[in-house]
Amino acid sequence: MEKICVAVRVRPPVKSDEDSNSSSNSNCSHWKVDDNRISLHRSLSGTPLPPALSYAFDHVFDQNCSNSSVYDLLTKDIIHAVVDGFNGTAFAYGQTSSGKTFTMNGSENDPGIIHRAVKDIFAKIDMSTDREFLIRVSYMEIYNEEINDLFAVENQKLQIHESLERGIFVAGLREEIVNSAEQVLKLIEMGEVNRHFGETNMNVRSSRSHTIFRMVIESKGKDSTNLDDAIRVSVLNLVDLAGSERIAKTGAGGVRLKEGKHINKSLMILGNVINKLSEGAKQRGHIPYRDSKLTRILQPALGGNAKTSIICTVAPEEVHVEETKGTLQFASRAKRITNCVQVNEILTDAALLKRQKMEIEELRMKLEGSHAGVLEQEILKLRNDMLKYELEREKLAMELEEERKSHREREQCSNGISSQNGESLRKNLKEEASSTQQGDAFSTPTFKPIPNSFVAKRCYNSTTPVYSPLPDAFGDVVDEDTWFKMNNGFIADLDSIRMTPPKQLSSIPSFDKIQLQDSSIDNYKEVENLRKQLQQAIDERNEFEKQHKEQVALNNQLMEEISKLQEIPQKLSESLGNCKAVNEEIFFTFKGFAEDEKSATANLFSKTSEFVMSLMSSFEAQIYMAMNGFRKADDGKGSSYSEEYKKKYKDCTLETQITCWKKEMSDEIKLIKERYENLEEELDMNNQLLEASKARIHGLQKESQVLSEERDDLLLTVSDSWKRSASLNEQNEKILQDLTCEIQKRKDLEDDIKQFSVGFVSRYKSYKLFSSEIKSKVEHLKAQKPFALIS
Ligand code: ADP
Ligand code: MG
Repeated sequence: MEKICVAVRVRPPVKSDEDSNSSSNSNCSHWKVDDNRISLHRSLSGTPLPPALSYAFDHVFDQNCSNSSVYDLLTKDIIHAVVDGFNGTAFAYGQTSSGKTFTMNGSENDPGIIHRAVKDIFAKIDMSTDREFLIRVSYMEIYNEEINDLFAVENQKLQIHESLERGIFVAGLREEIVNSAEQVLKLIEMGEVNRHFGETNMNVRSSRSHTIFRMVIESKGKDSTNLDDAIRVSVLNLVDLAGSERIAKTGAGGVRLKEGKHINKSLMILGNVINKLSEGAKQRGHIPYRDSKLTRILQPALGGNAKTSIICTVAPEEVHVEETKGTLQFASRAKRITNCVQVNEILTDAALLKRQKMEIEELRMKLEGSHAGVLEQEILKLRNDMLKYELEREKLAMELEEERKSHREREQCSNGISSQNGESLRKNLKEEASSTQQGDAFSTPTFKPIPNSFVAKRCYNSTTPVYSPLPDAFGDVVDEDTWFKMNNGFIADLDSIRMTPPKQLSSIPSFDKIQLQDSSIDNYKEVENLRKQLQQAIDERNEFEKQHKEQVALNNQLMEEISKLQEIPQKLSESLGNCKAVNEEIFFTFKGFAEDEKSATANLFSKTSEFVMSLMSSFEAQIYMAMNGFRKADDGKGSSYSEEYKKKYKDCTLETQITCWKKEMSDEIKLIKERYENLEEELDMNNQLLEASKARIHGLQKESQVLSEERDDLLLTVSDSWKRSASLNEQNEKILQDLTCEIQKRKDLEDDIKQFSVGFVSRYKSYKLFSSEIKSKVEHLKAQKPFALIS
C-alpha cells in the first residue's frame, strides 16, 4: 500500500492595478509557504493576525520554485518506477491560470514535467544494459465528455472499453511506436496543434478540457536463454486537468454568463471519487469511477495499481482566495488515498516485444545490403502499419462485440423480463462463467493480442467495480452550489445531480421503516424472485417425491403380479398335463371304437375335436386369467391396455413378455430417478443462489450498519454543535444584558458630568465675579490710602 504523493505549487503573483490598490489596503490576506506547509495570513488595520488556515503536504513549492525542482522532488521517482514496470500517473489540478499547463508543459527556458519525463525515460532506457524496450505513446483530450485523439484529428468521440486482456482502454486511439525523446516531443507538438484545431476561444477550451498524455513501456530481459524472464508492461499517464474554478471566471471580461453558475462536471466527479477514496477502505463503498470518462480512464491511478502524484497549483492573489482554499481542501483529501502498486509482468514468450524483434530481424535479413537509415525507416513504417491493422481489427472486433451485446439485449428485452425464470438465470450465469474462462487470462494494456499469455501478478486495490452505466446525455457542467459545498469539505451527494445510484449502497434491514432506494428494491425483488423460484423448486420436488412414492407402490404391486404370473406357467403345464391324459384316454377309446364300427369313426372324431377345442378354450381361459392380473394393476386403462398388450406380445412367450415388461419398468424407474436427481441438482443451485443472496444481504446490512453508525455520529456532532450554539447564545444574551447595563451606567455618568459641569460653570462665574470685585476693591483702597497701606 502506498499513499498518493500530493504537492502544492504557488505561482508567482501577477501584478495588476487592482493588486497594487489592494496591497495599499491595511486589511489584507496572503498565502505564506513555510517548508512543506502553506498558511493563510490576515492582517487587520495593519496588525498581523494569527494564521487563519494552515495545510501541510508532501511538498509545497513557492513562487520561486522551478519546474526542474518540482520534477525532481515529485515526479522523478514515479518516472523511474514506470521504466521498472510500475504504472505511474501525475496530474495537475487547480484553477485556470494557476500554472497547471506551465507545470506540465513548461516553457522554453524551464521545460515542464512531460518534457522532463520523456527525456528521463529515454535516458534511463539508454543506461539499461540488460533489458530492451518498446515504447508507445498516445495523446488524448476529454472535452465536453468526448474523447478526441490528439494524434489523429479524425479519431473523435472515442469510447472507453474494458477487457480482461487489456484492462480499461480507449478503443481506436492512435498509438505511435517511438524510439527517441525528440520523436515524442515532436508528436506532442503536433498534438497541441490538433488540440486547438477549429477552436475560436482557445482559453475557454483549454480551461475546460483535460489532456492525457500516455506512454506504454514494455521491456524484456536481453538474455533470451532465460525462459523465466518476464515481460513488463507499464503505463504512464501525465494529465493536465481542466480549470477547477467557476466557469464565470473564464468568461469574457468576467461577465456572469448563464453558464456561469456551473463548473466542469468531470472535475466534480473526480473530486467525489477522491472524497470517497479518502474515506478509507472500510467505509468507502461505491466509487463512482464510471460517472465520468476522466475518472474511468484514471481508475487504476486512483486507488488502484499505480504510483500517483498530484500537483495542485494555486494562485496567490487575494481575489482567488476562495478558489485556492477549494484546491487545498481537494489536495488534503487526495493525500489520504492509498494505492496498491505492483510490477506488471507477463510470463510468456508470445509477448509483443519478442514478436517485434523477430519481425525486425526478418526485415533486416530481407533488406540486407540496403542503407541502414532507410532500413530503420522501413521497419518503423512497417511497424506502424502493422499496429494500424491491429488497431483496425481491434476496433472492428469491439464494434462486433458491441453489436452482439446490443443484439442480445434486444433479444432479452423482447423475451420480456417476466419470462426470466430461474433456469434462464442460471443459464446466464453459466454463460458468463464460461465466457470468462474462455478469455485470455492476461492483461496487457497493449493493443496487440498476446495468445496464451498471462499475468504473473496483477493487483487492483480497488474492489470489483460496481458498474453504473454512463448517463446518456452527459453534459460537461454541474451546479456551482454542489461544487462549493464539496470544496468546503462537504461530500457532495451525486444523486442530487442525478448521477447513477450505486448498486451496493443500500440495505433492507426493515422495509416499513426505511424508505428503500431503487437499488435495494431491485435487490429485494431479486431475492424475492429467487425465493419464489426456490419455493417452486421445493414444491416440484415434493410433487416428484410423491409421484416417486406412488410409482414405488405401483412397482411393488406389479412385482406381486409378476410373482403371480410366474405361477401361471406352472398351472398351465399342469392343465396341459391333464389335457394330455384326457387326450390319451380319448385316443384309446377312439381306437377301441374304430375296431368295432367304422361308421362311428367320424362321430368320434368330431367328439374328439370338440374335446380338443374345449381344452384349448380352457387353456385360453387360463391365459386370460393370467392377463386379468394386469387389469387390476392398470385400473382405468382396462381392456384397451390388455388389447394393446395382447397385440404387442402376440408372438412372445410369457417369459419374454415378463422380462420385456420388467425392462420397461426399470427404464421408467431409471427415468424417474434421473428426474429426481436433476431436481436435486436444481435445488442445490437454488440453495447456492439463495446463499449468495443471503451473503449479499448480509453485506448490504453491514454497509447500512456502518452508514447508520456514521449517521449517529453525525447526529451526535450536530447535537453537540446545537448545545454549543445554545450556550453561546446564552453567553451572547448575558453579554448583551451587561452591555445595556453598561450603557445605562454610562448615560447616568454623562448626566452627572453634565450637572457637574453646569455647577462648575456657575461657580466659576461667581468666582470670577468675586475675584474681580476683590481686585477692584484693592485698587480702590490703593488709590485712597497708598501710604497707610505701606505702613
Ligand atoms: P493553467 O494551465 O492553470 O490555466 P497556465 O499554466 O497557463 O495556467 O499559467 C498561466 C500563466 O501563468 C502563464 O502565462 C504561465 O506562464 C504563468 N505561470 C504559471 N505558473 C508559473 C510559474 N511557476 N512561474 C512562472 N510563470 C508561471
Ligand atoms: Mg492550462
